[in-house]
Amino acid sequence: MDYRRYFQDSLAGLKAEGRYRIFAELERHAGDFPRARHHGNYAPDDVVVWCSNDYLGMGQHPKVLQAVRDGLERCGAGAGGTRNISGTNHYHVLLERSLADLHDKESALLFTSGYVSNMASLSTLGARLPNCIVFSDALNHASMIEGIRHSRAEKQVFRHNDPEDLDRRLAEQPADRPKVVAFESVYSMDGDIAPIDEICDVCEKHNALSYLDEVHAVGMYGPRGGGIAERDGLMHRLDIIEGTLAKAFGCIGGYITGNADLVDFIRSFSSGFIFTTALPPHVAAGALASIEHLKQSSLEREQHQDRAETLKQRLQAAGLPVVLSESHIVPVMVGDAAMCKQASDELLREFGIYVQPINYPTVPKGKERLRFTPNPHHTDADIDHLVDSLSTVWGRLGLQAAA
Ligand SMILES: *Cc1c(COP(=O)(O)O)cnc(C)c1O
Repeated sequence: MDYRRYFQDSLAGLKAEGRYRIFAELERHAGDFPRARHHGNYAPDDVVVWCSNDYLGMGQHPKVLQAVRDGLERCGAGAGGTRNISGTNHYHVLLERSLADLHDKESALLFTSGYVSNMASLSTLGARLPNCIVFSDALNHASMIEGIRHSRAEKQVFRHNDPEDLDRRLAEQPADRPKVVAFESVYSMDGDIAPIDEICDVCEKHNALSYLDEVHAVGMYGPRGGGIAERDGLMHRLDIIEGTLAKAFGCIGGYITGNADLVDFIRSFSSGFIFTTALPPHVAAGALASIEHLKQSSLEREQHQDRAETLKQRLQAAGLPVVLSESHIVPVMVGDAAMCKQASDELLREFGIYVQPINYPTVPKGKERLRFTPNPHHTDADIDHLVDSLSTVWGRLGLQAAA
């Protein structure tokens, strides 16, 4: 086997399909988001970022930065161990308390990322519940899919956001068989929202554990930033609410919340929790400050929704094929991988607009798109510049207009 040749050929295949990923090298400027410095000589130095998942700009919030500084001064750079072996810091405990409170649950458990929290929790449940079967929404995130796969439990994929399909599938199973239903609240590519209440009805009817990924909603929805389930008064009906500290909360880390026994079970049996060093204490301190701020302040949420609404309206008025989602996510459809990448390249090179192309396998083939994530700090002028630049690129490349 010529290994090197094999790697090269595989990469050449990605390039031929226009799916080869090139990372833009950015230097975000704290205090100046969504502006960033672009390194590399093929585009302007100063760019406006239009695809950050730091949805509310909390990654530069003065309270968060101060909490990180204080935590760093007090505790040093790293946690020093796994949670079990000298790595449980006071800040981790405070943060878990704050997260349990956010979702009105008895307990919370931190992981090093949202990906790890899904992977570790679902793999533990699927593997440890005897003869478990997991029902997974067709558009679930890779981290949930990997967790379920890793558990080796039987899996069924139910139609996206379809409680009736889920109900039919659950009804076919023996009543006493352990069942887990895994789904998301806001789906990050189309920005659509799950019918959480109906899915909970179905879960309760069949005594299935409900597992909700609120990664794209925590901090942004609900009176205290508890997500869509908080907004809709449904948190108490979910067995597990999972979230990230890396998107709207602006830091890094992931978590689950639930009743004390369930969370203790994951803590006690999950390899992905036990055998890895805990988050740095200053990161936990920053995330704690971010969550506590957003529990009390709705200003960021309101500005965020206002920016998303304005952007959708302006794109629609310009005749661009924007998906008018019910959330803050603003996809503009392209429908071709190479064109999608080309549009993204031209926006960066000529207009200083950074938006990453979203291609297969993140979305199905034919559904390639640019995905814009407006931020409270995008100005009206930023939006005008974006819409004008997109119109120019769309005309030049002959891309599809709005249907
Ligand atoms: C980003 C994402 C995750 C992973 O969260 P990280 O904290 O970035 O690891 C999990 N679920 C969904 C739906 C996501 O989009």
